[in-house]
Amino acid sequence: MATVDARPRTYEVRTYGCQMNVHDSERLSGSLQSAGYVAADGEQADVVVINTCAVRENADNRLYGNLGHLAGVKREHPGMQIAVGGCLAQKDKNVILEKAPWVDVVFGTHNMGSLPTLLERARHNDEAQIEILESLDVFPSTLPTKRDSTYSGWVSISVGCNNTCTFCIVPSLRGKEKDRRPGDVLAEIQALVDDGAIEVTLLGQNVNSYGVEFGDRQAFSKLLRAAGAIEELERIRFTSPHPAAFTDDVIDAMAETPNVMPQLHMPLQSGSDRVLKAMRRSYRSERFLGILDRVRVKIPNAAISTDIIVGFPGETEEDFADTLRVVEQSRFASAFTFQYSIRPGTPAATMPDQLPKAVVQERYERLIALQDRITAEEHAKQVGRTVQVLVATGEGKKDDATHRLSGRAEDSRLVHFSVPADSAVPRPGDVVTVEVTRAAPHFLIADNDGPLQIRRTRAGDAWDRAQAESCGVPTPAPAGAAAGPRPVSLGLPSLRVGR
Ligand code: SF4
Repeated sequence: MATVDARPRTYEVRTYGCQMNVHDSERLSGSLQSAGYVAADGEQADVVVINTCAVRENADNRLYGNLGHLAGVKREHPGMQIAVGGCLAQKDKNVILEKAPWVDVVFGTHNMGSLPTLLERARHNDEAQIEILESLDVFPSTLPTKRDSTYSGWVSISVGCNNTCTFCIVPSLRGKEKDRRPGDVLAEIQALVDDGAIEVTLLGQNVNSYGVEFGDRQAFSKLLRAAGAIEELERIRFTSPHPAAFTDDVIDAMAETPNVMPQLHMPLQSGSDRVLKAMRRSYRSERFLGILDRVRVKIPNAAISTDIIVGFPGETEEDFADTLRVVEQSRFASAFTFQYSIRPGTPAATMPDQLPKAVVQERYERLIALQDRITAEEHAKQVGRTVQVLVATGEGKKDDATHRLSGRAEDSRLVHFSVPADSAVPRPGDVVTVEVTRAAPHFLIADNDGPLQIRRTRAGDAWDRAQAESCGVPTPAPAGAAAGPRPVSLGLPSLRVGR
């Protein structure tokens, strides 16, 4: 049991990087809580865990900058411990202890379950602990989880990746793809739903190659359909698929399973076939566009997003023009755009013809301008549509100032909606029906007159229960009860933990 003078030790998890890391951080928080730690509530935590990412630019600088700051904090707080995990830890191993000897524990992407033991051992032996496994022996989803929200959860279906994209560090850090058995995945989804969640996102580096390990090429579409049959699960999302392995059975499963949401994240990376080849991405732009066409025939309202890298080594102006052409044709609802930068340890890092920063920057700006125009045009088409918004916490940074609440529509577009003075106030996890009245570049606005149409959900009830447990307020009526006017309270408390 982790205690200080009979009080439980507190922890804080800081997360960098992708959704996979956010999910891993939930596992880390869950492991620590199972071992008796409690989340720090604003005060300096006894244990600070940094879950690192090696994919993004400047990850090293950011980590060592943070560790430099924490060295001073640790001097002021005797007994404090610092742990560094995740992809950068897997890559740098003992370099972290050489550069920051005040770190207590370094653990790899496959060692999340060992964190409490490593912390205890470091305290007991008064010596830094480092544990990096090269492969996975316990699937991370079998670790306990401390979820970030009551209404929504992440479920890993696979970890690792069998592809070898030349810009990507994931295969060497996360290893070969490992798939969870469908029964385990479905049991975890059911457990989340039993806890009050109405939305799940299935996670994997390459979700549609799910099944490769147990020899079922259609395993992902079957999993979507099976998850779709789980009662009271209202929204299913997934990320990320790979265009090379994206097959029509997945499109059919999406279209025919009502609770699979009309949203798809489909990473393009480049519109140039020559660059795609150099990236070792085995699809070509025509195949990519063909997938989007087929998705839109079956799911006309699908919002499709993407990832694009600008300035891959050797990218010519002609190659970049191909990217612009494919982006123009693809009509993405949004895009995550990246400037290529060298990731040590990846094949692309040593390729000739690395482009000057100024060239990459200039192309990047042209791409952003194009995508911003398309996003604005696609958003403008949403005005007048009626959407169902799952009310969220923490999505609308300016909600207090604008007197709005926020959430995601079915297609995952962010919607900020006003709560008229005569309206009941939905809880996080409830669903409101609103009409989109205005489109902004990165979100939609729904300022409707009259009381909001609110559907009180089990997830909203779960949020009430969590609030009642954390601050002693009585639990209100369950879903289905009339939503009578309540005082407007727009500064909704956040359920974020351990961040
Ligand atoms: S598909 Fe490519 S980019 Fe995605 S994780 Fe695998 S190697 Fe990395």
